[in-house]
Amino acid sequence: MDFELSAETKMVLDTFREFVREEIIPLEKLFLAGDFETLMPIVNEKRQKAKSLGLWLPQIPREEGGMGLSLVEHGHVSEILGQTPLGHYIFNAQAPDAGNMEILLEHGSEAQKAEFLAPLLAGETRSCFSMTEPDNPGSNPTLMSTTAVKEGDSFIIDGHKWFTSSADGAAFAIVMAITNPEAAKHLRASMIIVPTDTPGFTLVRNISVMGETGHGFASHAEILYDNCRVPQENLLGAEGAGFVIAQNRLGPGRIHHCMRWIGICERSFDLMCRYAVLREVAPGRPLATQQTIQNWAAEMRAEINASRLMVLQAAHKIDREGSYAARDEISIIKFYVANVLQRVIDRAIQTHGAMGMTDELPLAWWYRHERAARIYDGPDEVHKRSVARRIFQRYQ
Ligand SMILES: Cc1cc2nc3c(=O)[nH]c(=O)nc-3n(C[C@H](O)[C@H](O)[C@H](O)COP(=O)(O)OP(=O)(O)OC[C@H]3O[C@@H](n4cnc5c(N)ncnc54)[C@H](O)[C@@H]3O)c2cc1C
Repeated sequence: MDFELSAETKMVLDTFREFVREEIIPLEKLFLAGDFETLMPIVNEKRQKAKSLGLWLPQIPREEGGMGLSLVEHGHVSEILGQTPLGHYIFNAQAPDAGNMEILLEHGSEAQKAEFLAPLLAGETRSCFSMTEPDNPGSNPTLMSTTAVKEGDSFIIDGHKWFTSSADGAAFAIVMAITNPEAAKHLRASMIIVPTDTPGFTLVRNISVMGETGHGFASHAEILYDNCRVPQENLLGAEGAGFVIAQNRLGPGRIHHCMRWIGICERSFDLMCRYAVLREVAPGRPLATQQTIQNWAAEMRAEINASRLMVLQAAHKIDREGSYAARDEISIIKFYVANVLQRVIDRAIQTHGAMGMTDELPLAWWYRHERAARIYDGPDEVHKRSVARRIFQRYQ
């Protein structure tokens, strides 16, 4: 497997690095202070600048206005953008929009592409993905309760969702709902596009997560669908194909997340090492001379390097053989890298002592928000079970 990048890709990565360092990291203070009123106009200017430099939609094909990078190449970009919490948003590569763009591109009708995809690609709107329900296990979504019943030319949607990330301010939701209750369990649900101004769509609240309700794209909403009527043309893909499409959406999405996490690991590691050589625990004895810190630095370096190679290998396989063939690799990186991420942030905080707990650095923010990495897009246990099942099948 050759992961060597072309000279052109290396130049693109350098341009992203410089943009992140010079234009985005300086905005972290406003972001960490939660001052979105001051922040958002500046963020919107940066988005325009990114667009004018051709650094827009790195994950989208050229003919759709993106950069046309392969999954491996976008993986490298995602790592760079991951180094700051605003990175992906400024280049219109953030979850859940990136995943929604992908499924609209692949399964959307021409009318859906014109109405919903085009403004999303242009960065004029945002979207959300509404599958998980408070009353049913997200790890087994075939048990969902939300229904979409046909009436005349419409679907009438009723249900209760939560953790619909970025719903606050989104123009539309892609909702998973049961349309075919009599079908086999993986063929019961469909994806339906629901504009958020549809009567019956209610954003109940942004859920407080680890002490923060967030704002706009950085929030997670509880949503009620109550007699919510949308035209049947808003069905996305085939009726009953909801789970199949959701599975497709998660393959490349997990590469994006894992490489973003590796970006967080690299930044945390860098902050930790800089601090360890400066902070003296006694005159002439910086933290970096203490064996615990040395062990951590060596172990973290090894785990981050291993994570990157595993993710690039998975991306390489998806690029060549598709998500289905790479399902073991995708599950393995999902739980492995999420746990490396958690350990790396934790050790970087510990090394900084009280400073690590402050919002002077992004470490505490990541510690709060990225704990969820072991839960969303499939909890650790679910991925481990899938991998183990296939391992043992080969021994039957
Ligand atoms: C920050 C964040 C953002 C999210 N964004 C979105 C979003 O945008 N859209 C959306 O639809 N959903 C979103 N989710 C929801 C997420 O996908 C679900 O939380 C996830 O699928 C798990 O479902 P659950 O919370 O219902 O946990 P449950 O399914 O109730 O599981 C609870 C726990 O049980 C354990 N468990 C589950 N199954 C097994 C098993 N087979 N063996 C052993 N242990 C098991 C796991 O540890 C799991 O964490 C988000 C969640 C978070 C935290």
